Amino acid sequence: MLAVENLRAWYGHSHILQGLSLEVRAGEIVTLVGRNGAGKTTTLKSIMGLVPKREGRVTFAGVDILDRPPHERFHQGLAYVPEERRIVPGLTVEENLRLGILAARGDRATKGGRASRHDEARRIEAIAETFPRLKQRLKQEAITMSGGEQQMLAIARALMAAPVMVLLDEPSEGIMPILVEEMFEQFVAMKRAGTTILLVEQNVELALDISDRVYIVDGGAVVYHAPAAELRGDPEIQARYCAV
Ligand code: ATP
Repeated sequence: MLAVENLRAWYGHSHILQGLSLEVRAGEIVTLVGRNGAGKTTTLKSIMGLVPKREGRVTFAGVDILDRPPHERFHQGLAYVPEERRIVPGLTVEENLRLGILAARGDRATKGGRASRHDEARRIEAIAETFPRLKQRLKQEAITMSGGEQQMLAIARALMAAPVMVLLDEPSEGIMPILVEEMFEQFVAMKRAGTTILLVEQNVELALDISDRVYIVDGGAVVYHAPAAELRGDPEIQARYCAV
């Protein structure tokens, strides 16, 4: 579904990604792990077209997207949830969710037309079923929720556009362990519902539990990749590359 080949990326004169390659197949959960500053976030941003200078090849659903503007990727069904959640203050949880649909208007998710009020309500209902914590809080001002709940809202909002694949950047960052576990269960539910996931995660143990395959990024390139079960059985590699 997503193929990244020999990706190189720069911030100004800093050459961050040094020829990174990875692949995510339809229906997989694939996780990128690695130390702080290894280049994981830059990888997601480059895939989304948010890093100013990039070279190499990125194909999504068979289309070369490296030089396409970010919104085109979104319309193709690729969603991105950055680490900073960007919840809109002053709006309720439900209104924040509606923004996800607004963003998708006129695209594939609404079959070229405006999503009707009815479609919108149905979609919110479906998402609320997947995220019971949000269901109880639809009328609450979103910014008053806990950090973990806000992160769930950011993920749920991305799902409103019915993406084919979601890129998630450190969703567990700064969140209570109990909520993190709940969130990871939701990733498994998203996978079951047919969404492909590329995850960046510091919590290696939890990530290994839900991932099909794992890539370790170091110095802007992939230094190891394997099925999750294989990395779980290799504490030496984990200690070498995954310590923060
Ligand atoms: P972390 O877990 O700390 O977020 P990461 O693996 O996601 O780490 P990146 O955020 O991709 O790492 O950062 C890779 C390198 O790029 C770091 O050295 C960082 O300082 C640098 N970098 C990131 N963003 C910028 C920027 N906007 N301008 C300049 N350098 C940047």
